[in-house]
Order: sequence, then C-alpha cells, then structure tokens
Amino acid sequence: MNGPGALAPYACDPAHSRGRRYPEPDAPTRTAYQRDRDRVIHSTAFRRLVYKTQVFLNHEGDLFRTRLTHSLEVAQLGRSMARSLRLNEDLVEAIALAHDLGHTPFGHAGQDELNACMTAHAARAAPGQHDGWGFEHNLQSLRVVDELEERYPAFDGLNLCFETREGILKHCSRANAQRLHSQRPNDVAARFLHNGAPSLEAQLCNLADEIAYNAHDIDDGVRSGLLSLEQLRVVPLLDEHRAQALAAHPALGGRRLLFETIRLMLCQQVYDVIDTSRARLQAAAPADLAAVRASAPLLGFSPAMRTRSQELKTFLHQHLYRHPQVMQTTERARSVVRDLFARYLNQPGELPPPSQRQPHARSVADYIAGMTDRFAIREHQRLFGSHPFA
Ligand code: MG
Repeated sequence: MNGPGALAPYACDPAHSRGRRYPEPDAPTRTAYQRDRDRVIHSTAFRRLVYKTQVFLNHEGDLFRTRLTHSLEVAQLGRSMARSLRLNEDLVEAIALAHDLGHTPFGHAGQDELNACMTAHAARAAPGQHDGWGFEHNLQSLRVVDELEERYPAFDGLNLCFETREGILKHCSRANAQRLHSQRPNDVAARFLHNGAPSLEAQLCNLADEIAYNAHDIDDGVRSGLLSLEQLRVVPLLDEHRAQALAAHPALGGRRLLFETIRLMLCQQVYDVIDTSRARLQAAAPADLAAVRASAPLLGFSPAMRTRSQELKTFLHQHLYRHPQVMQTTERARSVVRDLFARYLNQPGELPPPSQRQPHARSVADYIAGMTDRFAIREHQRLFGSHPFA
C-alpha cells in the first residue's frame, strides 16, 4: 500500500469513495479498496481463472499463461506504476485482479461464440425469453462481482466500491450502457454515455493489461514453437531490445536472450507510461478526481511508444492469434460453446437450478461463462460423448 501522505490529490482516496451498493460499516484494519481486493481473491470466479485460457488452451501446456497468472502480472505492473504516479495501489490491484473475472472458457473464441449464440437466440426468441444484452466479457466481469458471486448473507455479489466496479467495466457498448444506465442511473455505465473518463487507477489498469499481454504472448508464442525470436526481429520494439540485450551480453542466446529482450521491453514501456503520464498530469494539473473524470484520458504511452506497441499487436494478430494451429483450436472451442449453449437451452434440466429470475438464455450464458476450459470439455464429453480436442 502507498505510504502515508503518498497519494496525489487526483488519486482515488478510499475515505472519499462513492461507496458500495449496500452500505456496510468500515473494516477496522483495512481500507475499502484493500477490502475489495481481498473479496476478489476469496471469490469463486477468481479461483476459476487458473483453468481459463489466455491464448493457449489450459491443457496444451503447464507453463502457458492462464487468466489467473495474466491477472497477477497486470496487478504487478499496475501497482508498480501506481506507486510512481502517486495513485492508489490497492485500488489498482483490486481492479487488476478482477478485470478478467467475466471471461468465458477458451479465451476470446469462447466469448465471441457466446455472444453469437445470445444474439442469434434474441433474434428468434419471443420477447421475455431474452434480455437483448448479448455477451460482453467486461460486462460479465461486472455481473460476476455485482450479481453472480454468492458469498454473503445479505446481498448478491461482492458489494465492491464504485471505483473498483468502474475500473472493471473497462468497455461497454452504447446500447448496453443505456440499458445499465436505465436500471441504475449515475452508476458505472454513465461515463460511456457522456464520454467521461474513469479514474486514473482504472486507466492505469488498461495500460498494465496491454503491456502484460503483449509481453507474455510473445513468451508463450515462442514457448509453443509457433513464433521464433528470429521471426520477431521484424517488430522494431523487439529488435531494438534484442540488440540492447546482445550489446550488454554478446554471448546471450536461446531462452535467456528472449527473457532479457522481453524484460528490457517491459521496463521501457513501464517507464514510458510513467514519464508520459507524469508530464501530462503536470500539464493538466487536475485538482481532484472529478477533474480527472471530466477530462480526456490523461494516462498513456508517448506517441512513439503507442506506435511501437501497435506494431507489436499487429504482428501478434497476424502471426500468433491467427496462426493456423491457434485457429484450429479456436474453431473447436467455438463449437464446444455452441453445442453446450444449444443443449442447455433446449434441456433446462441439465443446468443447476437458477438462483435468480431471468430469461433462461441468460442463465445458460452465465453458466457457460463461469466454466473453466476443462469443465467445459468434460461437460461436452458428458453430453455429446466425444472429446472435442482429441
Ligand atoms: Mg486482461
């Protein structure tokens, strides 16, 4: 946690939180954001992240990132930048650990397919049999902490602070923001309707997320054999740091050269965010959190690093996320989600009893979204008799 007096005036201060949906007395020894972080760590959804895919499916290897290790890396990067910028480390940690709680099994493939299933269902179902929201993983993360966790006697969800929930809802379609806003005016969806910025801690988590996945997807890509360090030399950000690593250690090669390249790249990106953001904060001099929310996002990469990061992302899209081997797995993963969705929709008896009144399709989406990769595979095997990845 930040030391005493170490928070900037524009940082989130737990003593001035906009509060929880259900008022609770303060904890005697922890701030509101520390308590949020602890609630996330003790949640069921958090433990499930260990068996959820980042890029490579959980059963493909023991050393690839999962959603859990990704979230820990985001928290580490976020905390270290927060301290330098005098932002609230505990809030950054709470948001980072919770930011992927709504992810489906099988990474983006699972999420895209679940959204396709929900959208197709809404198009043919009678009103009342669907809610029209589709499926968005950021919204699902919020749904997990607001509704789906069942741990407390007095309320559904984890009853987190506004600032933590605001950070968790990183993106939201305009249509869904309007729906959320009509259910709960002036809550975390409002900013998407008037183009407001979230807290600096939330902005920082988005940057930490991007820095983390760019770096670890290179590492996992090379580990999988789908990428090589030689091939990565066309990406300027990597080639520059590879040259830097070799200049300092001419005999370096193999995995240590890869790790040193990634380490140098991570450092440069972290320092770039800190330096750029510090300069922008000095220039804009927001008086408080309200000023932060009213202005354009203040944290970010320098324009040069933004370009470099974009080049890296484009490379990863072309050569890793769309690699034929990854695409083949993606297709199978989508078919698992599609099959499960159809079966649970038509045979509600296969689902655990719903704990809330809502259209059946939403219960199906919640159930599938909560699954780990291996649970989804086991369910598919139970219901359809064959292992989808055999
Ligand atoms: Mg993430």
